[in-house]
Amino acid sequence: MVDTSVSEQFVINKKHCRPIEKILIIEDSLLLLNTLKNALDQEFHIDCDIAANEKEATHLLKINSYDLVIADIYLPDSSGNFIGYLIRKKHRILVITASQDETRRTKIASLPIVDYLYKTDEKSTLNYLINSIRRLQKNINLPVMICDDSNLSRLQLAQLVVQQNLPYICVKDGQEAYDCIIKHKTEIALLITDVIMPRMDGCDLIRHIRHKYTSNELPILALSASKKSSIVAQLLKIGANDYVHKPINNEEFLTRINISLDQSRLYLENRKLIDILQKMSETDFLTKLYNRSHFHKTIKSIQAQAKRNKSTYGIIMLDIDHFKSVNDTYGHETGDIALVSISKILLETARESDTIYRWGGEEFLILVQNTNEDELYNFAQRMRQIIKSTSISVPNTPIEFTVTISIGIALSTSSNINNAQNIIYNADQKLYQAKTRGRDCVVKD
Ligand code: GH3
Ligand code: MG
Ligand code: MG
Repeated sequence: MVDTSVSEQFVINKKHCRPIEKILIIEDSLLLLNTLKNALDQEFHIDCDIAANEKEATHLLKINSYDLVIADIYLPDSSGNFIGYLIRKKHRILVITASQDETRRTKIASLPIVDYLYKTDEKSTLNYLINSIRRLQKNINLPVMICDDSNLSRLQLAQLVVQQNLPYICVKDGQEAYDCIIKHKTEIALLITDVIMPRMDGCDLIRHIRHKYTSNELPILALSASKKSSIVAQLLKIGANDYVHKPINNEEFLTRINISLDQSRLYLENRKLIDILQKMSETDFLTKLYNRSHFHKTIKSIQAQAKRNKSTYGIIMLDIDHFKSVNDTYGHETGDIALVSISKILLETARESDTIYRWGGEEFLILVQNTNEDELYNFAQRMRQIIKSTSISVPNTPIEFTVTISIGIALSTSSNINNAQNIIYNADQKLYQAKTRGRDCVVKD
């Protein structure tokens, strides 16, 4: 089941990963059983079977397959070896117990199980179980790298990682880990690394990784058998997020990787949210074109580029003629459809280096890089012709109409190249003239 061979092509092992869709809970406390079943149903919509004793559990395990078995170790008909039976049958097991016996805890925690939970009050037990299941669900997307030169260590670590539903990849020294992560850009959510290894050791690996990735982007858990008292501080200082002493205590190791992965997941989720918010704040909701905020954010680098290349950039301001009458004639919804259709035409007609903004209600701005007066004027004329000759239709209705646009254009000069407001003002003045000259025309500086 566990493959600890070192992959030449850096292939991530994930055959063992599966979503948690069906759970068996073996527990004789009816109160905990029902609360847990309801909570799992509400939180994850997971299909849950329940068994109050070993006999019922054995029967259910024969006729169904489960992605997780949550098992109390003290049951009324306890044989004393039920966990052993579940392990032999290769089930993913989360053990719960009310026993505080330390020897038993040590024994069970050393078995290949997801976790070992000591039952305290009902709320804490429920919270812990729900968090564990949520983690198992999300772990599927968090590949872990195991870097150790000892085959035995790799096997032991991989077995623990497999229990957590985590994809993993094994490498046998720092150089391989570095090549896989940096050169092949393999996305890893957590790096678990030994310290003393041939070729590149763990310390050098951590230093090299930290040149490229912060501790949020790629958490590192270092493992070492070193007796040196300074080893922990040394590893944390060079950039390890956490440390576990070898020979590892399974329960401590799993708890620490869970904490690191929780942080990593939170960081990734926050990053995604920030990216979404950023995109939303710079995009017009209706047309999906950029808005003014994006213009102000990017104009500085466009100005710098124009200065570097000794080129000029142009601004096209365009406004739909008599748009109010489109709304008045066909309704506001049709007006919205027209705005979306016109945005599409603008995007299709523009070059890749041009950026189109919805500047206001029915007003658009096009930023044209690296252009000159004639080119800009011809481009604006072409845009005007295309819009004028493209009919706008409303799906599933006979409505079909065309609109015209008025355009004002202005070009950057050596004196106002850094003053976009001034160029926009000039283009706006020309747009105003285009309107007063009877609309459906282009007026240049
Ligand atoms: P002009 O040729 O002088 O530009 O005339 P106009 O009617 O286009 O200009 P005016 O400024 O009088 O009216 C603009 C209209 O655009 C009024 C407003 O309701 C409409 N409008 C602005 N934003 C939207 C929108 O998001 N959706 C719809 N449907 N209409 C919009
Ligand atoms: Mg208008
Ligand atoms: Mg207007």
